[in-house]
Amino acid sequence: MKFNSVNLEKLDQIAKVVAGQIESGVIELIGDVGAGKTTFTKSLGKHLGISEEVQSPSFTISRVYDLSDGRVLAHYDFYRLTDAGVMADELYDATHDPSTITVVEWADIVDGVLPEDRVIVKITSTAEDLRDVEVLGLNEEVWL
Ligand code: ADP
Ligand code: MG
Repeated sequence: MKFNSVNLEKLDQIAKVVAGQIESGVIELIGDVGAGKTTFTKSLGKHLGISEEVQSPSFTISRVYDLSDGRVLAHYDFYRLTDAGVMADELYDATHDPSTITVVEWADIVDGVLPEDRVIVKITSTAEDLRDVEVLGLNEEVWL
């Protein structure tokens, strides 16, 4: 599904739908610096019921949040890495844990570790406060 002229409120609504649909598995976020990948993840975390605010994992590479239903949100950002090293093992474990939702920014260097079956969210900046957003990997009916 493609959305044009997405403002922050609309992005939050899209994240809400994704949060309601994804039980576990991987969400790959694609977009330039400042596109809104972390902003999307903050909304996703909010709609998954995480009480603390999702923080950018740029410096720590990964951050993990507990959901009240026992699941976990694992958020990765590989922007600063050229070699995933031991993080690839951690990522592999997260993506194969049926109670973990794994969100990855800058997934290129770990593409081989991620399962083919994933939700992809592509965010393209079109104006300061507007984005084009494409969501792949969810049943189209969820947007009706
Ligand atoms: P990334 O993680 O992709 O580098 P961030 O989410 O950290 O990007 O930053 C995106 C910035 O753009 C935030 O400051 C956010 O508030 C701002 N922004 C403004 N409008 C939008 C929008 N429609 N969608 C996403 N982010 C937006
Ligand atoms: Mg980010």
